[in-house]
Amino acid sequence: MNNENIIHAIDKMIDVMESQKEFLTELDNVIGDGDHGINMARGFGEINKKRDLLAVMDAGDMIKNVGMILVATVGGASGPLYGTAFMKAGAFLKGKEEIGFEDFLEAFQCAIEGVMARGKAAEGEKTMLDAMLPAKRAMEKEWNLTGDEKKSLEAGISAAKAGVEYTKTIIATKGRASYLGERSIGHQDPGATSFTFLLEAIASQI
Ligand code: ADP
Ligand code: MG
Repeated sequence: MNNENIIHAIDKMIDVMESQKEFLTELDNVIGDGDHGINMARGFGEINKKRDLLAVMDAGDMIKNVGMILVATVGGASGPLYGTAFMKAGAFLKGKEEIGFEDFLEAFQCAIEGVMARGKAAEGEKTMLDAMLPAKRAMEKEWNLTGDEKKSLEAGISAAKAGVEYTKTIIATKGRASYLGERSIGHQDPGATSFTFLLEAIASQI
């Protein structure tokens, strides 16, 4: 991965957050306040406005700036959470010209730790982490087994999707959905869903 792949992955993220805006908002309507799609589309819309400035940055700065834009422009919980994720990943990648898959996995781990610290959440609380953590484990496993980036990302996407399915079976204990208690069962988490779309955007450029 280099700067070019990364800006193209960001372009894909911008597209998918716009095209999935309604769907993510509908999901959040059921167990939250119905703004997740709007939040994500707004944040990535702001990223789109700065796209040409981002494109000339080195990979670490580009990703860090994406995070800063999300923190600055998204009001909901997802803004600071995804913002922290990108900022932590960007900080890890600082100064690297070429990003290998191991760097990507390390950066992703930093992103996850950022979300966990910021959101004070763990796996099994019906949040984006229920897609992120299984995706990380699956990618690492496949990478160690095959050393194949594409296969590893595919394994990550499958695990993230399974994580989204898992969120339907559990009670939300973090975020707005936690106000619903048991009534949150049966519905998938919007943030776990949006994370899956973001990972697909990354995979499309590898
Ligand atoms: P808000 O909840 O403020 O309306 P969004 O609707 O944009 O913000 O985002 C909701 C998503 O954020 C949830 O679906 C969940 O995945 C994620 N989320 C909420 N709280 C937390 C938390 N404490 N830790 C991790 N993820 C969280
Ligand atoms: Mg919401």
